[in-house]
Amino acid sequence: MKILIADDESVSRRMLQGLLLKWGYEVAFAEDGNAAWAALKAPNPPRMALLDWMMPGQNGVDVCRALRKLRPEPYTYILLLTAKDAKESVVEGLESGADDYLTKPFNPQELKARIRVGLRLLDLEDSLVQAREAMRFKATHDILTGAWNRGTILEALDREIARFRREGHSLGVLIADVDHFKSVNDTYGHLAGDAVLRDITKRMQVEVRPYDAVGRYGGEEFLILLPGCNGSDTQTKAERLREAIFREPVTTSAGDLTVSMSVGGVATGDWPEETANQILQMADSALYRAKEEGRNRTAMAGAAEHEEAHHSSLEFSSQSPEKE
Ligand code: GH3
Ligand code: MG
Ligand code: MG
Repeated sequence: MKILIADDESVSRRMLQGLLLKWGYEVAFAEDGNAAWAALKAPNPPRMALLDWMMPGQNGVDVCRALRKLRPEPYTYILLLTAKDAKESVVEGLESGADDYLTKPFNPQELKARIRVGLRLLDLEDSLVQAREAMRFKATHDILTGAWNRGTILEALDREIARFRREGHSLGVLIADVDHFKSVNDTYGHLAGDAVLRDITKRMQVEVRPYDAVGRYGGEEFLILLPGCNGSDTQTKAERLREAIFREPVTTSAGDLTVSMSVGGVATGDWPEETANQILQMADSALYRAKEEGRNRTAMAGAAEHEEAHHSSLEFSSQSPEKE
């Protein structure tokens, strides 16, 4: 654990350094408030800081205020060292965002104990952040494959369609579906089927660019978003993904299995008026065509799929009151 010592008096700095090193901490130094601020806002800042209140430039309390305003995380535990001990200044110090204070001259054992209190708080903070990140991951990812889950990829679709339209760009949208997957399960078992889903997810994730998104849309169906892709880019990428799955067999506990998938694609730039739902329907109709034409192939939505998407949304809206 690295602790920042910010004090303008070199005698104080050396004394604190001696103590901290003896207790097994790493040490960083700042000779005034501005240097302390620079050290705390740098990437990978020290998790704990001993800030002298009175320093030239920004004082310890100024640094505290600025830091709390800058970021909640990673949390830096701040212990103010002060010669002031009037009650108001203690209040001012703590209200600026300091976690604790110690009045100079202080007893080294007390400093040691207070640093330990800070470490306990930082540990607690770390475990809360970890738990929160794990929950965030679970809420947004598919448990089997680690791809984005259905809710998250659909939200991303809405958001990205709006964004790309606003910016006058195109978003490529693909629906990929594993061919004859039911027979993989029936012949080799559900676990082999699961292994296939995991492996093809990984292959797609490797194949796309970092800002593309691969989500599990349904059982063995995936929704892939390709920001900035027009029709022909989308088709090329669909073909690359299809090829990445078919190229080499998937290794499973039931042996090496060659699987293929069919892909339906659409680029929003070609259909600037369509809603997210209609875009999805068009990609789905194109996928259906790829299946009809023999599977292990890709198809881009054209006029027929466009027509169909409109038709079914009309049907849907005229039917929905009766459904209720
Ligand atoms: P097609 O080429 O027309 O797409 O045929 P298909 O057999 O792939 O399509 P179908 O929709 O008939 O079957 C999909 C199968 O996917 C049925 C279902 O049991 C299986 N499945 C869905 N989710 C999972 C899963 O998480 N793990 C496994 N192992 N199988 C799954
Ligand atoms: Mg299938
Ligand atoms: Mg399916």
